[in-house]
Amino acid sequence: MEGAGERKRGVRLCCVCKKARASVKRPKTLDHICRECFYHAFESEIHQVIIRNSLFRPGERVAIGASGGKDSTVLAYVLSKLNRLHNYGLHLFLLSVDEGITGYRDDSLETVHRNQVQYGLPLKVVSYKDLYGWTMDQIVDVIGFKNNCTFCGVFRRQALDRGASLLKVDKLVTGHNADDIAETVLLNLLRGDVARLSRCTSITTGEDGPIPRCKPFNPNLDSFITYAYFKRLDYFSTECIYSPNAYRGFAREFIKDLERIRPRAILDIIKSGENFRISTTTKMPEQGTCERCGYISSQKWCKACVLLDGLNRGLPKLGIGRSRGSVGSENGNESKVEKSIQGKQCGTLDF
Ligand code: SF4
Repeated sequence: MEGAGERKRGVRLCCVCKKARASVKRPKTLDHICRECFYHAFESEIHQVIIRNSLFRPGERVAIGASGGKDSTVLAYVLSKLNRLHNYGLHLFLLSVDEGITGYRDDSLETVHRNQVQYGLPLKVVSYKDLYGWTMDQIVDVIGFKNNCTFCGVFRRQALDRGASLLKVDKLVTGHNADDIAETVLLNLLRGDVARLSRCTSITTGEDGPIPRCKPFNPNLDSFITYAYFKRLDYFSTECIYSPNAYRGFAREFIKDLERIRPRAILDIIKSGENFRISTTTKMPEQGTCERCGYISSQKWCKACVLLDGLNRGLPKLGIGRSRGSVGSENGNESKVEKSIQGKQCGTLDF
């Protein structure tokens, strides 16, 4: 034996099957394993998350949030494989959102259309233009590059729910990985969003909302990019053209810097989020429905209606900032910090 793998005539062998050449070093165990054993371990861990958490029931209709990016493509591929292999009995669909971003989403949607054929899954695309009457290109024209991601993140969340309800699905699954979850913990902490902080590491959320959302990934899971690369999956890897100021991007860079100094940083941030408990005296927002569109909301109007109203009235900055306790933020009392934080968030990964 040498290190975590045996060597045979100078070639390191897989420490699981001890036959094939090792080609992956698992970050969690530092074991050197071959591609086939890596695929098996990766897929088995997702299967275990699904079984342990009883995520699905036979016969359920499940939409996979598909952006054409690496994570959602891996999710679509692995979930359809596991569904066949383990007879989950699920009816799977791909669900995509077209934000109307020329040169970005139109290209990534082409990837999703190819995935539809490759995986044999029905695809539904919902667009901002159809749902709200505005594309992100038009919104950026009036709002500029500073707060565009606030509109996009709020609109996407609702668009996914609306698409899922058109598909009449029981659940919506999303392809978050450990990096995404660690970023979300940090962002919710920075925003002081206690309600989201308390639930962002949960595998299933929104059980009291229109459609529950699941993220069937284990934080300890190996690299998605390695899986996607070895499997030669067809995914789109270009960044959104409006992303340079996205607040999530700063959080991502910060976490990557931490990880360079302390490799466990991502797992430890997630662990902190998992163990976060809200004091029973903390006042939590009460869920109701938006008076305007009927969507779930803790305010008189949901955030999407507030933003849309501002856009339609030619006052696009009306809904920017914290809107708790009021319809819109017309009083302009938010602090500069809050405005800045609210204004820079990429929701691409908030599927
Ligand atoms: Fe939307 Fe993300 Fe692009 Fe911002 S960076 S405009 S949230 S896709």
